[in-house]
Formats: sequence, C-alpha cells, structure tokens
Amino acid sequence: MESRHQPCMVIRAGILGYCMGVRRAVDMAIAASRGSPVYTLGPLIHNPQVLERLQEQGITILGEEQLPADLRDTVVIIRAHGITPQLEALLTGRGASVVDATCPRVKASQIQARSLTEQGYGVFLAGEAHHGELIGIQGYAPGCLIAANREEAEKAAEKRYREAPHERTALIGQTTISPDEYQAIGEGIRQFFPDVKILDTICRATRDRQRALRDLCSQVDAVLVAGGRASANTRRLLTIAQECGTPAWLVEDVHEIPPEIASYPVVGLAAGASTPDEIIDALEAALRGYLPVIEAPFSDSYYT
Ligand code: SF4
Repeated sequence: MESRHQPCMVIRAGILGYCMGVRRAVDMAIAASRGSPVYTLGPLIHNPQVLERLQEQGITILGEEQLPADLRDTVVIIRAHGITPQLEALLTGRGASVVDATCPRVKASQIQARSLTEQGYGVFLAGEAHHGELIGIQGYAPGCLIAANREEAEKAAEKRYREAPHERTALIGQTTISPDEYQAIGEGIRQFFPDVKILDTICRATRDRQRALRDLCSQVDAVLVAGGRASANTRRLLTIAQECGTPAWLVEDVHEIPPEIASYPVVGLAAGASTPDEIIDALEAALRGYLPVIEAPFSDSYYT
C-alpha cells in the first residue's frame, strides 16, 4: 500500500476472523488432503484465497450432481453446514471415505431434530429454506415445516394445527438467525401451539463479531472489514459499520486497501467468520507499515 498520510492509530476488533466451526473444517480439509483425491461438497468456506489454497492442495469442489458414481479411494469432506443423512448414506454407499466437518453446533441441531421427530413432535425450522444448513437438518426431521419470518411461521403453524391440533411441537433455528427474527417466528407458532418448545440453537459467533465491530466503530474514524465478498456475514459487518456512520470498506486482501484510509486518524480492523488469520495478519502488517496495531479491549461475554 502506498503511504500518503499516515493513520495515527490502528485498532483491531476484540473478536474477528474464523469462527470455531470454520477453523475446524479448514483444518480437517488440510489434514485430509494427503494421499487420495479429496472432494468437498460445495465450497468449504466463502473466501477466495482459502479456496485457492485448498485447490492447490488437490481439494476439488463438487456439486451434488457432479459426484462420480464410484467414490472408492476418494475422500469427501462434509462442510460446516452439514448435509442430510440421506446424502451421507449415498456417499458411503458409493465407497467414499467421509470426513465429517459439520460444525458441532449444527450437528447438535441435527441430532435434536432427529430425536424430537422420533418422539412424535411436529418440528418447525426457522431460517432460510435454501440454506445448506437447513437443507441438512430437514433430512433429520422428515415432514418438518420451515419459516423464514413470523408471517410464514403463522401460516405453517396454522397448516399444522388443521392437520394435528394436539400435536406437541418444537422449533429449531438456523444457527445464524437473528435473535429477534427467531423470537418473532416463535411467537407466530405460539398463536396456534402455545406450548411450542423453542430450542436455543443460535450460535453467538456472528453476533459476537457484530458486537465487537460496533464497539470498534465507537473508537475509530474508519474501518476495514476483511473478508470475501461472497461471505454473507462479512458483508453484514460492512453494513453494520456503515449503519454506525463509520466510513468502511470491505477488502479481500492488502491490494484492496483504499489509499484514502490513510487520511483517517484512527482506523479499525474487523473480519468476517470465514476470514483466515493470514489475511488479517497481512492487513495488519500493511497498516503497521504506518504505525503499530493495538488490540481492542474485549469482554469475556463475547465468547461463545
Ligand atoms: S457460525 Fe457458529 S454454527 Fe456456524 S460454523 Fe461458525 S461456529 Fe459453527
């Protein structure tokens, strides 16, 4: 990055970068990429540099429809979002060695969905119907109903009520759903099933990064948000910084650092949950070309 005016101070967000589930999935993929051909079902992570590095290590991204009929002597990595048990059975049936990198939090939702269904509960899922995580959980709860908002929840609950008014019901949320949205969906179901059991399945990793960024915005004049443009949680961080009234840029690497950043006295550094440490460190090093980076103080409550 070219130096024009030097920022007087650079502060990193108290929490930034890889969440536990993404870090675990990337580590498992790297460990698996020694020997047999390795596939991942869909991109392992929404970060172009990491995907490029994994590809260099012989890890190929495949869609479900591209899976070879014979998977003997191949490794297939299940990404953090998880998959349906039916698809997992198909993989093993074709002879694949399956490396299950499903995030433990998502796995917990899958197990609860299966257990509740087996106990006779009518299961509702809160979140995006087309998101890989919910598609996977649906496979564990055949007949479940999905709602993305309160309106959809009321409609789904009304439908269920007409079919089985005395059924016990339960609600499982996508790990990344906003708490307000989840609560609203729960209220929608309560209109028909007042005793609906609402499970606490929300992962705090996303919220923690958002809260840390809000704190950061109160201390800085501008913010760099590091991460892939394909990453929804990274883009959301950018929006939050802008909502805070802080000039902000999303940068995928050091080459994208805007020259005007140097005109702000105090600059913050944040990163999405799929941004690797090396990108954050490289940005820090580039900014450190001006002045040392300091860590923002953080609260223990950030941790999940
Ligand atoms: S955001 Fe949470 S649930 Fe999703 S992969 Fe990361 S740790 Fe797991």
